[in-house]
Amino acid sequence: MGAGIIGLATAFRLARRGHAVTLFDPAPATGATRAAAGMIAPSAEIAPGEESNYRFQRGAMDAWRTMADEIAAVVGREVAIVQTGTLIVGWDASDRRLIEQFRVVAEEFGAPMRGVTRDEQPQLFEGLTTRITEGLVMDDDGWLDPDEAVTLLMAANEALGVRLVRERVRSARAVDGGVVVESDSGETTANYGIVATGASGLPDGLTVPKSPTVRPVRGVTVRVQSLDRSALPTVRAYVRGRAFYMVSRPGGYCVLGATAEEKPQPLVEVGELQRLLRDGLDIVPELESAPLLEVRNGLRPATTDLRPFFVALEEPGWRWSSGHYRHGVTLAPLAALDALGAIPS
Ligand SMILES: Cc1cc2nc3c(=O)[nH]c(=O)nc-3n(C[C@H](O)[C@H](O)[C@H](O)COP(=O)(O)OP(=O)(O)OC[C@H]3O[C@@H](n4cnc5c(N)ncnc54)[C@H](O)[C@@H]3O)c2cc1C
Repeated sequence: MGAGIIGLATAFRLARRGHAVTLFDPAPATGATRAAAGMIAPSAEIAPGEESNYRFQRGAMDAWRTMADEIAAVVGREVAIVQTGTLIVGWDASDRRLIEQFRVVAEEFGAPMRGVTRDEQPQLFEGLTTRITEGLVMDDDGWLDPDEAVTLLMAANEALGVRLVRERVRSARAVDGGVVVESDSGETTANYGIVATGASGLPDGLTVPKSPTVRPVRGVTVRVQSLDRSALPTVRAYVRGRAFYMVSRPGGYCVLGATAEEKPQPLVEVGELQRLLRDGLDIVPELESAPLLEVRNGLRPATTDLRPFFVALEEPGWRWSSGHYRHGVTLAPLAALDALGAIPS
């Protein structure tokens, strides 16, 4: 249930193992997955108190490379995974102090990093305002294009016989020896069910024994045509205490992100967009004349401890895979492995 990046990757790995899979989603890959920038950035995403997340995510780049090979074996095309690292910079003195705090935490976690200056490596600072003269590079980080990953996963699932039902699951339950979902066209039975509905949570009829619970945290990304920094580290900046990033793809398609609002409405507020663009213009002045291509928004599925989960539900046969918050693209191959472990071959 749910064809975001988590449901698509889960269906893919189960189908590859030989399971017959039916995937329900009224609008596949239009949730958080569509808004995501696609960074696989365990190091740049380090935050105080999130050491276990960092350790877990460190294997994500390799896990994606493995899954990209598996996808290529089915569809003949690989998801491009680019390891350019991340350059972290600060706008003013207080933002640079935030970087210093980040550096202390990253060092505690043992994350590899190096300090860089514009004088020594001017090419790293290409396109950035000249007031930024130093930064930190986390070489382990990288990115993929979630649109490409979704396209190839959908093609692979189709080739493996995954049945995609473009309907919302209204309710679900357990029955003797299996599970049932009710959607617009009626009831479908199966041996097992996995809920991967992101921030939407559980449908009627399913209950979780205790925590976790999921809450939506809205995020907006803006897509523009601008400078091609795709061979250089992804830019992340603190700007007046807020986080800004620019992921640049070959040809100059750039994803600017991202807002983080504790709001459940899937929309874009003017003020939210204005802050993001203002931060972007301060860091990358030539965005001033960049053609605006698209604005996307999505609801990140967040838990109270900010950790993802794969749990058994009260109703036998049902599992719930969610809580991937800011890292669902990064963690999709690992979430799919959880499902392989939970569903007997
Ligand atoms: C602005 C933004 C930027 C981000 N950038 C990154 C990034 O750079 N790197 C990274 O790793 N992560 C990033 N994330 C996080 C990542 O996008 C999410 O963690 C991830 O997409 C969650 O995937 P999901 O499949 O659980 O949820 P979703 O992508 O939201 O998919 C859930 C699906 O379930 C379907 N659904 C809901 N209810 C039902 C129902 N009843 N029946 C059937 N289907 C249903 C929906 O239609 C939807 O397609 C970002 C998120 C946002 C919002």
